[in-house]
Amino acid sequence: MAQLISGKEVSAQVKERVRAQAEELKAKGIEIGLAVVIVGDNPASRVYVNSKKKACEAVGFNSYEYALPEETTEQELLDLVQVLNNDPKVNGILVQLPLPKQINEEAIINAISAEKDVDAFHPMNVGKIMIGSYAFLPCTPAGAMELIDSTGVDVSGKNCVVIGRSNIVGKPMAMLLLHRSGTVTICHSRTQNLKEICRNADILVAAVGRANFVTADMVKPGAVVIDVGINRMEDGKLCGDVDFAAVEPIAGYITPVPGGVGPMTIAMLMQNTLTAAKQQNGLG
Ligand code: NDP
Repeated sequence: MAQLISGKEVSAQVKERVRAQAEELKAKGIEIGLAVVIVGDNPASRVYVNSKKKACEAVGFNSYEYALPEETTEQELLDLVQVLNNDPKVNGILVQLPLPKQINEEAIINAISAEKDVDAFHPMNVGKIMIGSYAFLPCTPAGAMELIDSTGVDVSGKNCVVIGRSNIVGKPMAMLLLHRSGTVTICHSRTQNLKEICRNADILVAAVGRANFVTADMVKPGAVVIDVGINRMEDGKLCGDVDFAAVEPIAGYITPVPGGVGPMTIAMLMQNTLTAAKQQNGLG
């Protein structure tokens, strides 16, 4: 039976670490601020924005919310980003995606100052991740990496398989594992022999977006299985990309959904905002 990796516990540890450091900075007169921009009234985005605000409160950051109407133009959003780039109270800027269709997401991401890009989506930060000299990591893969580290399993030399090649999860996840000297395979919808490849993985990360996609016959006994997927079932319940009930008896370590990678993403956002504030104050 696998050992359960608790994202709730590990994220609480990360947030506590961040809170303690934020308190130290406050004692030096440095307050930390995160601006969260939401455009339109997507209910899922609203839930995420509220959790980010709550996390800011918990770690002692100031959060500044900008809720713009659905019909906001690209220029209006670019203007706001410019104001936030120049506001010294704001150390991190997060524009909640997806944006309404009249706004080009890439143009907005590119306009955010790389020093305040706490999502690590700006091409400058993406490039730094490639080189391996980075300040910010995208929050979800960074959180997944913390969970892997919490098992005590050393990535170096291990066969690591990432299913999914998105810019926000799959690709940076693979890069992080590579920086830790894992032997990394990235799988996607055109991959042949997916089962065989996965069965060879000591560390298997699923970021597919399909419920119960990873079945027991795809998992090597004792493997570390990290389930990034968040899929909403017809009954409203959340479910991961891994068939938990079938895989759990085989894996060595496994993350649940919910309560695995999900809580880590917000904790890592807090971590990135702290890093941004330190760097902007010459302490990074
Ligand atoms: P994307 O849809 O951008 O990427 C999915 C990837 O899965 C693609 O690379 C796709 O391949 C691959 N894929 C799809 N079908 C198959 C298949 N049959 N076999 C192999 N690979 C396949 O999703 P994201 O990366 O944005 O998100 C992935 C999951 O993670 C989602 O469930 C999402 O909700 C969740 N998520 C969770 C977060 C968290 O905080 N826990 C944060 C972000 C995402 P191809 O490129 O060839 O199309």
